[in-house]
Amino acid sequence: MKRPGISVKVIAFPFTRCRKAPLQQHPPQITELIERLAKLPGLGRKSATRLSLYILKRPEEEVKALAASLVAVKEEIRFCSVCHDYTDRDPCPRCSDPKRDRSTVCVVETPADLMTIESSGLFRGLYHVLGGVLNPLSGIGPDELNIQSLLDRVGPGTEGDPVAEVLLATGSSPEGESTCSYLSDHLKAKGVTVTKLARGLPAGMDLEFVDGGTLKEALEHRRKIPWPGPPGDPGRYPPPLHPSGLWNLKRAPAPGAIGSP
Ligand SMILES: [Zn+2]
Repeated sequence: MKRPGISVKVIAFPFTRCRKAPLQQHPPQITELIERLAKLPGLGRKSATRLSLYILKRPEEEVKALAASLVAVKEEIRFCSVCHDYTDRDPCPRCSDPKRDRSTVCVVETPADLMTIESSGLFRGLYHVLGGVLNPLSGIGPDELNIQSLLDRVGPGTEGDPVAEVLLATGSSPEGESTCSYLSDHLKAKGVTVTKLARGLPAGMDLEFVDGGTLKEALEHRRKIPWPGPPGDPGRYPPPLHPSGLWNLKRAPAPGAIGSP
């Protein structure tokens, strides 16, 4: 006799087969593009997928121009034989520019560092790209960097305008500092002035957020605050204290007042 109740039908889902088979979410062309983009620094698989799908939506001419640019930088860009920055002609326009101060060479780790200093518009000398920093643990010694060509650029016996100052603009990492010391010792032996970028407090940062190392550098490289004007100029003396307690910077001291010459 058949017992009353609810009959349950077991439905077999095809999950077992799916788990074993590789996931085929996209056509192989898209998958390959995602995998290639995911190898780029700063791009994970999710970002690479988003970028690939964005590229697919763009007009064909735009995507072809992007592909042509990728090929062009690889085929036409090389290193300048003087400063070792990327260039399409050798020597690069910066090394060939007669308007630049040829007596000062700024040494940087990478072409990206060069671009950072150059885009500030504050330095008009020449550059030298090391191509990294000394790191014995990773097998990077002086021969792996553009150090010999730097030493060849300075000192007696070099061709062209003599270099009077070498500014070392390596990073503040331990490797950057040790590279700076190594270069400093070898450059001083060449008889040139060796300087390095000042370290200290970042602009706009409160003291309570500054780490100990940065504060130590800032204290060691503290500067004397100059008088605002030359000797004899009334403006070089402190102006009278404003009743509110603030310095009235616009008012010069009255003749005969305390603090006037
Ligand atoms: Zn160059």
